[in-house]
Amino acid sequence: MSVGGGESLVDGPPANPMLVIISGPSGVGKDTIIEALQKRDHRPLYHYVVTCTTRGRRPGEIEGVSYNFVSVAEFMALRDEGELLEANEVHGNWYGTPRAGVRAALAGGQHAILKIDVQGARVVKGCVPEALLIFVVPPSLDTLVEHLKARRTETAEQLELRQRNAAIELARKDDYDYVVVNEEGHVDVTAERIEEIIEQEERGGARRAVAV
Ligand code: 5GP
Repeated sequence: MSVGGGESLVDGPPANPMLVIISGPSGVGKDTIIEALQKRDHRPLYHYVVTCTTRGRRPGEIEGVSYNFVSVAEFMALRDEGELLEANEVHGNWYGTPRAGVRAALAGGQHAILKIDVQGARVVKGCVPEALLIFVVPPSLDTLVEHLKARRTETAEQLELRQRNAAIELARKDDYDYVVVNEEGHVDVTAERIEEIIEQEERGGARRAVAV
């Protein structure tokens, strides 16, 4: 087996560590997809980067695992010190990708997996053009709205904002390298498809992330 020739190693790190962005509108099921990917167990190939947010912690969320929960002042300090690869206000809260988390993953030969919103994805793609952008879409806008309502984590006002943003975000799907439909009840199929895309691009070797 040749190392560095673009072939995937079964047990070792990938030959071409990539920055992989999984994006899509709020409520499309990105968290569930990430969980399904984690169950497929790609250690040590995939590193899921924990991002920062000023949003309040939801029940069940764990500091340092779900997010790094920070105050607005802490967030702004990180941003001003250049610690964030991108920083965006999403649905009224700040979210940002720690540069260090991405760097550490790539330096360790792992694919850095980012689960971020559409605006953040564009910014990252702007500074890391070789990043792989995977856009997850719902089978329909109605399905998405039903999901947002069912999870009951937003106020009526927040829900309305996320619905409006979803329509805008779905219109941007051409900005992505791949579009994957997350069919109702088939999250494993979605995870498998994402895994296939990553493997295919890894073999291609053209997306090796250089510097972030
Ligand atoms: P939620 O509040 O539902 O956890 O996340 C809201 C949106 O922010 C989701 O689309 C999520 O993927 C996105 N998000 C999470 N972390 C980041 C980040 O670091 N940067 C950006 N731009 N979006 C993020």
